[in-house]
Amino acid sequence: MAAEGSTRILVVDDHPDNVEIIDARLSSRGYEIETANNGQEALDKVYANPPHLILCDVMMPLIDGYEVSRRIKSDDDLPFIPIILVTARDSTQDKVEGLEAGADDYLTKPINFPELEARVRSMLRIKRLQDELDQKNRELEVANKRLRKLSITDGLTELFNHRHVHQLLHEEFERSMRTGEPVAVAMLDLDRFKQVNDTYGHPTGDVILYETARIIRETAREIDMVGRYGGEEFIAILPNTTVEEAAQFAERVRQAVESHEYRDEANLIHMTVSSGVASFPGLDVDSPELLLKRADEALYVAKESGRNQVVRASESTVTA
Ligand code: GH3
Ligand code: MG
Ligand code: MG
Repeated sequence: MAAEGSTRILVVDDHPDNVEIIDARLSSRGYEIETANNGQEALDKVYANPPHLILCDVMMPLIDGYEVSRRIKSDDDLPFIPIILVTARDSTQDKVEGLEAGADDYLTKPINFPELEARVRSMLRIKRLQDELDQKNRELEVANKRLRKLSITDGLTELFNHRHVHQLLHEEFERSMRTGEPVAVAMLDLDRFKQVNDTYGHPTGDVILYETARIIRETAREIDMVGRYGGEEFIAILPNTTVEEAAQFAERVRQAVESHEYRDEANLIHMTVSSGVASFPGLDVDSPELLLKRADEALYVAKESGRNQVVRASESTVTA
């Protein structure tokens, strides 16, 4: 319910006289009354500007009060709008049908005005509580989404964190086994990064990590998953990618890092990166852990062979 402004009640009845007397009574109590003389007009007004409550005649031609209730209550895009059905009929069956159509309450004609007012107040109270609940739930949803994002993100680089990378790798590995599509991983580790920290300080190191993360992400495709695996070690999970294609990806990253001018306030710094790539199926890999190990072994060889290079996992990089 609007905190500011008045409470709007939509009164629906195919007899203008009925509309008029309810309008007169509720207006005198300070409610803002809108009126409709048939079901379609009522629905149009609800969609144009949802009222806080609807008083709706049951028997109307074409779209009756039950149908109005059903349509409003089945539309998840509308807020909660209490509907009080007003009818001359007073059988239990009628009430049941009305309530099953989604109406919230029932009033019989001739209208007893003190009762009408009491029910209106009661329904508006429920609406207020329901609106508060909806608002709280929306806030909770936003908070949960933010929390979930935080829980899978590395704070410094904004890439996926170590834990989430493992989960993604397991998922991709299983998918690959299911579909027969290959999956590749590239491990990327900045060369002599410790020296940067020692020379320029830790904050400059952080800037370089952040920039490198950006380079890897921008080099990757939309479907690739990039994470920070450890301190200055990154990982890319590349779905539907062969070891050769993974090597091409890592080589593009290698070149981009090599040509990038990293800067802090005072310095212009050049970096290089070494990479090991492996893919499944291949090299007797039968688990995501072993796939990681194959990439790591290749990375080790890249480091040992002079850094600033990409090495594909192969028989010769496999260690016991
Ligand atoms: P290599 O070429 O063999 O990879 O040598 P390296 O110096 O890059 O590797 P090493 O593992 O010896 O050093 C990694 C350094 O990364 C040491 C650690 O202090 C630094 N480091 C880890 N995490 C962070 C971080 O979040 N920020 C900064 N600035 N430095 C970090
Ligand atoms: Mg390193
Ligand atoms: Mg390292």
